[in-house]
Amino acid sequence: MDYNQLVRENIKALKPYSSARDEYKDLAEIKLDANENPYDSGFNRYPDPYQNKLKEAISNIKSVNKNQLFIGNGSDEAIDLLFRAFCEPGVDNVIALSPSYGMYAVSAAINNVELKEVALDEEFNLNRSMLAAAITPKTKLIFICSPNNPSGNNIPKEDIEWLSQQFDGLIVIDEAYIDFSDETSFTETLSGYPQLIVLQTLSKAYSLAGLRIGMLFANEAIVEILNKIKPPYNINEASQQIALNALTNKQSINEQIRLIKEERKKLITELSKYPSVLKVYPSSANFILVKFEKSQELFEALKEEGIIVRNRSSQAGCANCLRITIGKPEENQQLIQAIKTFYQS
Ligand SMILES: *Cc1c(COP(=O)(O)O)cnc(C)c1O
Repeated sequence: MDYNQLVRENIKALKPYSSARDEYKDLAEIKLDANENPYDSGFNRYPDPYQNKLKEAISNIKSVNKNQLFIGNGSDEAIDLLFRAFCEPGVDNVIALSPSYGMYAVSAAINNVELKEVALDEEFNLNRSMLAAAITPKTKLIFICSPNNPSGNNIPKEDIEWLSQQFDGLIVIDEAYIDFSDETSFTETLSGYPQLIVLQTLSKAYSLAGLRIGMLFANEAIVEILNKIKPPYNINEASQQIALNALTNKQSINEQIRLIKEERKKLITELSKYPSVLKVYPSSANFILVKFEKSQELFEALKEEGIIVRNRSSQAGCANCLRITIGKPEENQQLIQAIKTFYQS
């Protein structure tokens, strides 16, 4: 695969900023090269620009070569950098499915890149012929969110294999919720698909949304391009340290994931009993999309009870739908009770 055909001309020509830490990587006794304050505050030194220790830990857990890993200040930064690296403003376009995660459209708009939306069907499955019809010679990226936010379903692997045969650009699989799914990650097949980019995050299953750590897995040539254009110190030292510590404690995360999946199942079973619940969509994520009678009034009533869910009614194919994140068992119980009370009154 010739990535040079995809990269913007100005990025190909870019001479990246070279930081003090780029130019001298070894451990020096006396560091007088970066205009830092010499007195130790715990954070007086600039962080590792390439997050080597954190990448080692992640590459072990995910069984992906360290060179195939890029870390962003949240996946949102990685999404934005993909636009900046590959999409010529006003010329190129990208494709996303609809409904899906809102940041693809926002990043496209910020970068003045056309976003073509391809509607999923009423069960949120991919319509292959509509997707194929949307691809043009100027399509650089196709975003597939799986499990999809806000619908919660996986996009089948066969669809993505099919897509890779129709399309010469980059396919971005956003796996923010993969840890809650029984499907395996596309990181396992990276080497077989040079056009594949997989996004994951520590924000959901790993319980670290506040740290802003997003992971991008791809061919190392793509990672090199992103390294060239990222802000030099995009992951701060505190985040690198805390993330590294958290990753050594995978066991308690696994236990939380198990509990959340169990609660998801209970919530689906419980909500499916009520006649005013028109549809509970199957979910492979840590949320469920539910179509309610009087959804707007229910949303307001829950808010009155101090329970906030996400109203997704205005999104394509989501009329009267609320997206409910799976909480702790007692929180889910309170939610059920509040819904019951609303429909009884
Ligand atoms: C929550 C979410 C993300 C997370 O992004 P971060 O910036 O890493 O917090 C990415 N993609 C999707 C689809 C999400 O729902």
